[in-house]
Amino acid sequence: MNFDFSEEQKMLRSTVRNFVDKEIMPYIGEWDSEGLFQPSIMKRLAELGLMGVCIPESYGGSGMDYNSLAIVCEELERGDTAYRTAVSVHTGLNSLTLLQWGTEEQKQKYLTPQAKGTKIGAFGLTEPGAGSDVAALSTTAVKDGDYYILNGQKTWISLCDVADHFLVFAYTDKSKKHHGISAFIVERTMPGFSSKAIKGKLGIRAGNTGEIFFDQVKVPKENLLGKEGEGFKIAMSALDNGRFTVAAGACGLIMASLEASVKYCHERKTFGKEIGKHQLVQQMIANMEAGLQMSRFLVYRAGELKNQGKRNTRETSLAKWQACDFANKAADDAVQIHGAYGYSNEYPVERYLRNSKAPVIYEGTREIHTIMQAEYVLGYREDKPLNEMLPSWPFKVDSNLPV
Ligand SMILES: Cc1cc2nc3c(=O)[nH]c(=O)nc-3n(C[C@H](O)[C@H](O)[C@H](O)COP(=O)(O)OP(=O)(O)OC[C@H]3O[C@@H](n4cnc5c(N)ncnc54)[C@H](O)[C@@H]3O)c2cc1C
Repeated sequence: MNFDFSEEQKMLRSTVRNFVDKEIMPYIGEWDSEGLFQPSIMKRLAELGLMGVCIPESYGGSGMDYNSLAIVCEELERGDTAYRTAVSVHTGLNSLTLLQWGTEEQKQKYLTPQAKGTKIGAFGLTEPGAGSDVAALSTTAVKDGDYYILNGQKTWISLCDVADHFLVFAYTDKSKKHHGISAFIVERTMPGFSSKAIKGKLGIRAGNTGEIFFDQVKVPKENLLGKEGEGFKIAMSALDNGRFTVAAGACGLIMASLEASVKYCHERKTFGKEIGKHQLVQQMIANMEAGLQMSRFLVYRAGELKNQGKRNTRETSLAKWQACDFANKAADDAVQIHGAYGYSNEYPVERYLRNSKAPVIYEGTREIHTIMQAEYVLGYREDKPLNEMLPSWPFKVDSNLPV
């Protein structure tokens, strides 16, 4: 095992860190309190080549490895969870799924502009009646000649008002349960599509989250991703990549909690000494550091398995579960260390605490990951090979593909 980052990865980390320090940190408090999502940040991410960092260059990406995506997410969430979430759904849940399951035509038409960041992708799985229990979804897709007609509703969809392309999961045959779900690429401009933001969120207030609706949306049959009935498998494989980015982002939130806490520990004095000298405060700092280092190992191990082209559902689930729990605890402790000041938006730690909650819920709740890990250990769950795998890294160069 090699634990060193390459020179290219170190440069990537410093590029994202500089960008976050200069273009997100100074403004994020205001964007968060006013609930403003800034499309201009997505444009800047595209200019920096960060919207398709681990997509092959032949499809418009930067061609770096999967752990480079983790670096981007870690550094982005050090600034705020909103833009890491945006990259998670755009690259993790959507673009990598197109790379894994798309036809050559679908990759040219949808993946390439997404990797360049000229189009934004999102992921529509959750419904009012179907979250953890995916098979309870009720959106339908009925074949009609060269089209599928989609009807239904999705909720809690990140980038609902911003994305151009949505991966949407719908029943083509409800009687087959999981095996009757299919995946579709839906464009915002298709008649019958609409979206509406959710207001009053606990956290990720600088992000755009909401509902999307399908009213007789005609989706060309060429936009079926994979085969009819493969939608559930496709959704789960998408989550292997999305969860990886969420776990990496959680490391960034622990970093941010730690940075703010260390600074405050040196500034604030009680009983004649810096609060960092009190052992119970040190315990919180030590727990944050332990959580950060353990989470990083889990994340980068999952990334290495992706680089090797191996299935990593089990390892990614463990990384996502643990990193998000550590981040939630780190943010809570960061508020505690700041005392009453941590309870106001004069300091960023209250935002970290609010932001740390959604990742414990989305892309598999804490309880779902706990059950998955227990089932693996008890022998009740086993991962079988998929029809399509993510390409291993370094990517093979195909000279027939346009650059
Ligand atoms: C900010 C935000 C952004 C999101 N973005 C997206 C997105 O882009 N695309 C998308 O498709 N979805 C998105 N989601 C939705 C998210 O993935 C779901 O909220 C999540 O899957 C949980 O589903 P649910 O909220 O319906 O909870 P439920 O599934 O109803 O769960 C409720 C509670 O019951 C527990 N529970 C459920 N089943 C079991 C069980 N078998 N055993 C033990 N406990 C159980 C859960 O752990 C939870 O505590 C987002 C959510 C948030 C908050």
